[in-house]
Amino acid sequence: MSDQQVRVRFAPSPTGGLHLGGVRTVLFNYLFAKRNNGKFILRIEDTDQNRFVPGAEEYITECLKWCGLDPDESPEKGGPFAPYRQSERKPLYREYAEKLVMHGHAYYAFDTPEELEKKRSEVPNFQYGMMYRGEMRNSLSLPQHEVDALLDAGTPHVIRIKIPEDQTINFNDMIRGYVSFDTNTVDDKVLLKADGMPTYHLAVVVDDFLMQITHAFRGEEWLPSAPVHLLLWEYLGWKDKMPQWAHLPLILKPDGHGKLSKRDGARLGFPVYAMNWTDPKSGELTEGFRELGFLPEAFVNLLAMLGWNDGTDQELFSLEELSQKFSIERISKAGAKFDFEKAKWYNAEWIKRMDADKLKDEAEVVLSAKGIDVADDAVLVKVLDMVKERLVLLKDIYDQSWYFFKQPESYDLDAVKPKWNDAKTELFDTLIAHLEQKDTIDAAELEADFKALLTEKGLKPGDAMLPFRIMLVGGKFGPHVFDIAALLGKQEVIARIQKGVAAFTE
Ligand code: GLU
Repeated sequence: MSDQQVRVRFAPSPTGGLHLGGVRTVLFNYLFAKRNNGKFILRIEDTDQNRFVPGAEEYITECLKWCGLDPDESPEKGGPFAPYRQSERKPLYREYAEKLVMHGHAYYAFDTPEELEKKRSEVPNFQYGMMYRGEMRNSLSLPQHEVDALLDAGTPHVIRIKIPEDQTINFNDMIRGYVSFDTNTVDDKVLLKADGMPTYHLAVVVDDFLMQITHAFRGEEWLPSAPVHLLLWEYLGWKDKMPQWAHLPLILKPDGHGKLSKRDGARLGFPVYAMNWTDPKSGELTEGFRELGFLPEAFVNLLAMLGWNDGTDQELFSLEELSQKFSIERISKAGAKFDFEKAKWYNAEWIKRMDADKLKDEAEVVLSAKGIDVADDAVLVKVLDMVKERLVLLKDIYDQSWYFFKQPESYDLDAVKPKWNDAKTELFDTLIAHLEQKDTIDAAELEADFKALLTEKGLKPGDAMLPFRIMLVGGKFGPHVFDIAALLGKQEVIARIQKGVAAFTE
């Protein structure tokens, strides 16, 4: 690579929630920038006013923050190439469109929406291009004086690229290698709209040039637009400055058939968006990974593995590590199947590895939503340390830990009542007497004491351990029972034994 600074960009159109494929595009841009000491730019491509959705840009910004993928330059942060919102750059695009017209690579088109509609209804699969441009009202088909008159009169018009006939255009994609297109299949895309706004095609090329973008990672769905962009780079005289492109493979449905869509998520019961998104028009809520209880570390990790690996069997990577190891050569050309079970595995692994202290805030949110307000942070951290390896989603925190904060309201009686007897009642009465002589509970000491008592009463561990657990937590679950008892504390354990014995002997 030359000594030119690497500059990459994520260039979303703010039209709704961010699909996990979009976040993976952000991630690969970010990793490539980090790996090469480059800059990662967020540019908002909001020139299509009809598709503008309020809140979508804020959503994108928040999503990048949640994932820890902070841009070096962005609308929020600013930077040497500001503004980074294309709608705010509107005046600068016309000059380039006019330059293309002047050099014969673009032309004015005056067709009204009705005329275009009529043509579409007459010609099946109508494409505004070499076949039909001569039949339309534009500066290529009309005499010059008529064009001048229309322009002088301020007649609404667009500027279209003039795609050349019978040419093969090619480029070298960083992932796919050599890609070529036949220009006869490409239509004369609009570059500048009647309202003076550029379309995506013009704006993306102009801004990638002006912002000195060196590499562009984007979804495979943009590949068909590449010939238009290649021609624009050439016609604007910037071909030697064109970024290197990488069109990322699709993220596929779990069965591998087609692109994973928002609807697949709803159908199969898993999120496809990074965070919750509420459509401002319909009010429809699409659930996100964040709200379902994914850690950003796990989300980023699982996205990286959708289409990339480091060549070994390693699956768990921190963002730091990914930033050091990421390489384009190891991105696969084939689409990557999305597997929600595997996604959950990543989350469980990350929760296990996470410092309990770092899970505390999330845990407080989960618990307080269920009416539990934790008074003592230190207790919560101890609880989390005990239960974190049992969690898959953060919201499991409640199911795995509520009993540390309130007594069970019901018991799995089937598991204890049929085998309950006087000897067991006696055992637990003695246990209470022992506990009363202590100041605090030590787990190991309690375990030794409990086992000695069992022997003394002629009982087997299997006879009393499960009832003890059920007294404390209500059911057959949870970590080591003596650890639970130690954390609950003497008074609470005594109270729960009493309540349990009463319920089991009833
Ligand atoms: N604005 C395009 C989008 O919404 C960007 C495509 C590109 O990166 O060139 O995805």
